[in-house]
Amino acid sequence: MNDDIKIMIELQGFWDNVLASRAGIEKARETERSLEKDLADGNRRLASLGNTVKELKNSTKQNELDLKEKEERISKLEERKKIIHTEKELKALEKEIDVIRFDIGALEEKGLAVYDELDARQTEYAELEEAVGVMGARLNETKTKHAGEIADFENTIKTNESAFNSLVGSLAVQHKSRFLKLIQSKDGKGIARVDGEICGFCNRKIPASLAIDSGKDEKVVTCSNCGKFIYR
Ligand SMILES: [Zn+2]
Repeated sequence: MNDDIKIMIELQGFWDNVLASRAGIEKARETERSLEKDLADGNRRLASLGNTVKELKNSTKQNELDLKEKEERISKLEERKKIIHTEKELKALEKEIDVIRFDIGALEEKGLAVYDELDARQTEYAELEEAVGVMGARLNETKTKHAGEIADFENTIKTNESAFNSLVGSLAVQHKSRFLKLIQSKDGKGIARVDGEICGFCNRKIPASLAIDSGKDEKVVTCSNCGKFIYR
């Protein structure tokens, strides 16, 4: 095998380790971001639900005050009944009392509905609060676990980058910039093994003569389809 090809294979190995570790770190961070987003959403919903509960409590209080006021008004009217002289005045008074009693009925009905709603929302709040607590704990556990993993990945990156940098100087100048450009591409591959006449990177057939050259010690060749360096 050609010496430069040997060096490229070794460099590719270091580079693959760097890329795999970078991907591992990114995956861990993505998981954390997703958990953080869920937690923030949960807290937002909790705050909104908390406001609803507060409003319903105020509404219940107001309803009680309104009821009290109406009851007091009826008591006063009942008192006035005792000092009334004419039938006409009495009828007017009783009519007024009837109207207030009707209002009281409506207020009581409304009060019950608000109370039921408050009860349901409070239960919902307690459940959500617990769920948000679980989310927070899970995020912390995940971060602790990831901190160790990320440190390991960073070590792997450092070791392999250092090995890569020490070796890359040995690569012949006429191949170096092309190889570096290839591994900097999105797929991160600079070199691929040829199997028969099939390029191991693009999986396409290459000319038979190129396939033969890819096995020669004195040759450094690239795939006619994908442009990666090839060897066999
Ligand atoms: Zn190819």
